Amino acid sequence: MADIIQLLPDHVANQIAAGEVVQRPASVVKELLENAIDAKAETIKLLVKDAGKTLVQVIDDGVGMSVTDARLSFERHATSKIRSAEDLFQLDTKGFRGEALASIAAIAHVELKTKQAQDEVGTTITIEGSEIVDQDVVVTPTGTSIAVKHLFFNIPARRNFLKSNTVETRHIIDEFQRVALAHPGISFVMYHNGSEVFNLPHSNYRQRIVNIFGPKTNEKLVPVNEDTDVLKISGFVGKPEYAKKSRGEQFFFVNHRFIKSAYLNHAITAAFEGLIKEGTHASYFLNLEVNPQTIDINIHPTKTEIKFDDEHTLYAILRASVKHSLGQFNIAPVLDFDHDANLDTPYDYSSKSASTPTIEVDRTFNPFNSEKSAPSRPSTPSSYSGRKDPPTAGWESLYVGMESKGTKSKSDFSEIQFESVESTASLFDESQMATKQATYQLQNKYVLSTIKSGMLVIDQNRAHQRILYEDFLKYITGKDTVSQQLLFPLQIQLSKQEHDIVLNLKSDLEYAGFVFQNIEEHMVEIIGLPINVPESEVSIILEQLISDVEHEVPDANFSAADLLAKSLSKSLAIKSGQSLTQTEQDHLVNSLFACKEPNVSPNNKPTFITMTVDELDKKFM
Ligand code: ADP
Ligand code: MG
Repeated sequence: MADIIQLLPDHVANQIAAGEVVQRPASVVKELLENAIDAKAETIKLLVKDAGKTLVQVIDDGVGMSVTDARLSFERHATSKIRSAEDLFQLDTKGFRGEALASIAAIAHVELKTKQAQDEVGTTITIEGSEIVDQDVVVTPTGTSIAVKHLFFNIPARRNFLKSNTVETRHIIDEFQRVALAHPGISFVMYHNGSEVFNLPHSNYRQRIVNIFGPKTNEKLVPVNEDTDVLKISGFVGKPEYAKKSRGEQFFFVNHRFIKSAYLNHAITAAFEGLIKEGTHASYFLNLEVNPQTIDINIHPTKTEIKFDDEHTLYAILRASVKHSLGQFNIAPVLDFDHDANLDTPYDYSSKSASTPTIEVDRTFNPFNSEKSAPSRPSTPSSYSGRKDPPTAGWESLYVGMESKGTKSKSDFSEIQFESVESTASLFDESQMATKQATYQLQNKYVLSTIKSGMLVIDQNRAHQRILYEDFLKYITGKDTVSQQLLFPLQIQLSKQEHDIVLNLKSDLEYAGFVFQNIEEHMVEIIGLPINVPESEVSIILEQLISDVEHEVPDANFSAADLLAKSLSKSLAIKSGQSLTQTEQDHLVNSLFACKEPNVSPNNKPTFITMTVDELDKKFM
């Protein structure tokens, strides 16, 4: 048989390599920004069009390239940054693989302009899919400009795989922020579709953080500084009370390179233990400096994961210094977690003796009587919107089966109940006796209720999400907005991106019941809220909403109204752990079964399960 192995032509090899290096427009942004930094630029400009799908351009004032270098820079394994494998352990540059430009040029239209300081004129090169289509001399300032257009023009599958502009822009901004945070001494600007997104003058680290995340960030920051033989730490952690529901503001830089490390992240979490609520995340912006010989950054093509020689020591030092900073700035003692407030006796009660609680029993009470509309607690987020619609066929179907069996009538049922009460009376004393009630709350999490065929177990959080979701959706899409007027306008500080998201969703938010008086760069002023949104929760709800938009936007069939309704209902629904009064439980059950789709939460998870008497019987066999 003839030989069958062939060497891949360069452009094919480049395309394959591109698959690793360039996943999306944001990868191009990262590589180009890093090259500009390696070229010792002092000012770097990023221009993006259509979330990078049409254009990503980086313009720097760095050292530039000679004609030959300009040409060579697009070859694979062409790098000025290392000469031998040993150099890998002395790296002070971002790049070293010499792969980025070759990969990008294989899958896009690239236009390079570059000039070195000592030269009169520069070089321009145009490449399309690894092929040089033009090279010329050009008048251009010292430095380099690389424009990457029509990414994945020759790989439609990859192009189609790209997410919505919102998501891709989010990724670009993430990369931009990481690079900008790692280099506060360099000034950066970013434009998207011609409008300025960031303008970051060269500054110190604190100012850089504030310029990126908005003025209110300043008061949140607690400095962390530590200098040991193996590790130098500098930077900031966010005060515990500002912990966020999203993980947005967590940054580690190792030798000025952004890295992801679940292990080191855990060290921070451990330092914050007991200081922040479960489910929230502390912010941090930490620069770690280690001897380059003790790390290996070569393990991942995009170089965001690195291997440390001695992770355990780093973990311990990191945790200790964050703890130390929190203590030093008097943050820890404010919260006393060993103290259990439940054990406190209020002064008024200390002299009184305890009395046995009494239970009122209403034997005529019918849990599924829809006429009984319970009042809600308007001051808490758990309050419902006062739904009055009668339950529809949705819930009645639950009972259909048993009606037709018709073996037990209502009176049979109460007779049995009665008998059982009498028979247990001799075994237990009065106070412990089970009483017949409409619903029963289990572990402050589930609401149990009886149905004719057996038992209903409702997840209180999911059920309430469903109820609120349908309410919000009705307001948003039905456009019959209801809102509560605020006495004083509420000002909420926003970062630039948060501001953009709010602006994008403005009309949907207004239909949901928000009334904006003013939307400025770093602040929104709100004068009206949806009726079920308490004023104290507004900033948390907006934060959650923004984070949902940023991270959870499903691309197919994305609807702003749906996302908004989901996010608001998630934020506002009663949580598990919250105890509900009898009337609240009843109201929850009734409102749930008045919904269009009572059996699933807005995210398609079951809201309740049923257990029939037959099933119970089987368990007792
Ligand atoms: P690497 O960064 O790993 O060396 P790249 O493919 O990103 O590989 O770049 C190849 C080479 O092109 C670099 O080593 C550098 O010499 C040159 N180069 C790339 N971008 C610039 C720039 N903005 N300014 C000056 N030189 C650059
Ligand atoms: Mg590079």
